Amino acid sequence: SSQWSDLDPSKVTITPATTLKPLPKPEDLDNAWGKVFTDHMLLCEHDPVAGWGAPRIVPYGPLSLDPASACFQYAPTAFEGTKAFLSPSGTPRLFRPDMNMARLARSCARVALPPFDGAALLELIKIMVSLERRWIPAGKGYSLYVRPTMMGTRVGLGVAASETALLYIILCPTGKYFPKDRTTTSLLASNDTIRSWPGGTGGHKLALNYSPCFAPQRIAASKGYEQNLWLLGDDQHVTEAGQMNFFAVFKKPDGVLEVTTNPLDGTILPGVTRDSVLKLVEAESKSLLPGTVLRAVERTITIKELVESSELVEMFGAGTAAVIAPISRVGYDGKDVLREEGVVSRALWKRITEIQMGEVEHPWSVQC
Ligand code: PMP
Repeated sequence: SSQWSDLDPSKVTITPATTLKPLPKPEDLDNAWGKVFTDHMLLCEHDPVAGWGAPRIVPYGPLSLDPASACFQYAPTAFEGTKAFLSPSGTPRLFRPDMNMARLARSCARVALPPFDGAALLELIKIMVSLERRWIPAGKGYSLYVRPTMMGTRVGLGVAASETALLYIILCPTGKYFPKDRTTTSLLASNDTIRSWPGGTGGHKLALNYSPCFAPQRIAASKGYEQNLWLLGDDQHVTEAGQMNFFAVFKKPDGVLEVTTNPLDGTILPGVTRDSVLKLVEAESKSLLPGTVLRAVERTITIKELVESSELVEMFGAGTAAVIAPISRVGYDGKDVLREEGVVSRALWKRITEIQMGEVEHPWSVQC
């Protein structure tokens, strides 16, 4: 109706925190992802008749919600993850945040949460990042992680869509992904539990996709692997690597390195990092790794191929948290596929992080 109003950054109100928290030391942030939060959070409520209310920036703290809220029972909860970086000139920058806005809109639609103006949400994120600028740790490998979340807050146990919703934004400073003594990750290929399937929700960033991975992750950890390599289908093809998109690099007989990942068939999350890897490999196929030709390939990779291939030269995971995480070990059927950290992983990490940090000019890096 004409009464309905969309998310509107011009309506934002700010209640500043009376005491500001002490900033963590950068070294305390390493390997302590997602535990320290900034001074403020942004809240905005949606009502099916009135639409989006005025966004409020308030001191970071607990929420008060009715225990019969839909989000606690049926998990209509979608979220995003992106990072703000401090450029050499001291201005905060975001990396391709329009992709996160579009993905959040699709995730919300999948669980019938209300629509919102993505440009307006991005504006609110910029306001929050600018307000919390002192929390962005400087230096390569450091950033301020941005977690917008939308959850259904309709009160009642009826199993139905929740058009009453809460949108919030919280921020946490983050440090190095890998501990000091480690530069690669290990994965256990799992085929007794499945992360996603055709027609399911695996292609969306929904809370309900994550908790079913906790028990399998524990099993992987008990066997000495960090994460699960998720397989799907009669052909046992690889979908994702823990919470990252999976890449394998094959060296073809003509010397070309094929940087290969599963196509976006609805069973894998359309990662911003995944898309960036594919686009960079395509656009800089001859310059990314001087003396080598790279080719971006989207096709399924079976676990059998990983085990048997003599063309497999490296594997890595791609995601916002690690950017590029080289995979040195994949366990399957009691055996390990082993590969060293490779040159493609290293070149991509360097190229993507220099763009993110604003060390080079690139349209993907957006000023706050
Ligand atoms: N797959 C899953 C399941 C994830 O949770 C993430 C993290 N968002 C990714 C892949 C990587 O996506 P992105 O590069 O956008 O962080």
